[in-house]
Amino acid sequence: MRAETTAREDRAAFGRGVRDRAVLATFASPQRTLRAPIGCTGVGLHSGARVSLRLLPGAAGRGIVFRRTDLPGGPVEIAAAHDRVVDTRLNTTLGLPGRPEAVVGTVEHLMAALSGMGIDNAVVELDGPEVPVLDGSAAPFVFLLECAGVVPLEAPRLMIEVLRPVRVEDGEGFVALLPAKAPGLVIEAEIDFPAAAVRRQARAIRLTPQAFKADLAAARTFGFVEEVEALRAAGLARGGSLTNAVVVSGARVLNEGGLRFADEFVRHKILDMVGDLALAGLPLSAHVIARRPGHRLNNAVLRALFADPASCRIVPAGAGAGAQVRAGVGGLSAAAAAPA
Ligand SMILES: [Zn+2]
Repeated sequence: MRAETTAREDRAAFGRGVRDRAVLATFASPQRTLRAPIGCTGVGLHSGARVSLRLLPGAAGRGIVFRRTDLPGGPVEIAAAHDRVVDTRLNTTLGLPGRPEAVVGTVEHLMAALSGMGIDNAVVELDGPEVPVLDGSAAPFVFLLECAGVVPLEAPRLMIEVLRPVRVEDGEGFVALLPAKAPGLVIEAEIDFPAAAVRRQARAIRLTPQAFKADLAAARTFGFVEEVEALRAAGLARGGSLTNAVVVSGARVLNEGGLRFADEFVRHKILDMVGDLALAGLPLSAHVIARRPGHRLNNAVLRALFADPASCRIVPAGAGAGAQVRAGVGGLSAAAAAPA
């Protein structure tokens, strides 16, 4: 928790330290936010609750902040940060310590859309406990972001550069973060399910807004008909239906329209990883290799990354650390900004 908080504070300090437009022009990548507020209403996949969501422009250096507007005592804000994750059973839920009512569930598809489309800062207002699932993919959120429009902010985008391999595992599954060969995020994932409709699927993607929108955003969450009763007994999937999830029974996909991609399942698992890894608080520059990933492993690998100060550092995005030093701005060298 300490390392993540430090990274967030460093980012805010860096954003405040840069106000000169001429200097800003030297940065290849400014931070970005929404041009205007936009919203939607839908049900939560697990809670079944009907929730209204509003996406609002966010200030430079603040990152993504969730705001529950319906709790007694006034609005409660929860940072979209890996150390705020309180539940990883079939979704990623954020919460505040000591406030069991202050949670926001199923953040991963919205976080994937924000990260995938290059939105650094936004406020997400909700009047209920869970982000609406909509069609089970990130495509409706991409549509909302495109309708709202995106604007640059007067602050350089920073990213977390992975310097050393970090790996977590769980039975036959693992997630490994390796140093990137070129700046940016590459995710290689493989899944393997017993159901004949899924089985083994593998895919690799270099994350850009274009690739996210074309190759990942529309891939829907999925479940197995045999597990539905057990999930509902555990208080999960109460809002799940064929309109917001791919439902598999053995070799069959029960949805009338079939699949959106032949390998929609692994694409959705990569989409989940984009969203879960966005809880690093800044874009990651890393080569990610995963086998049978899930929300728990995705969160565990970030905790492992920030547990070792030598495993990563914060650098400007779109320009090397050298460019930052030559520009002489911000008062923070890349080394000083490392999440130590
Ligand atoms: Zn998902």
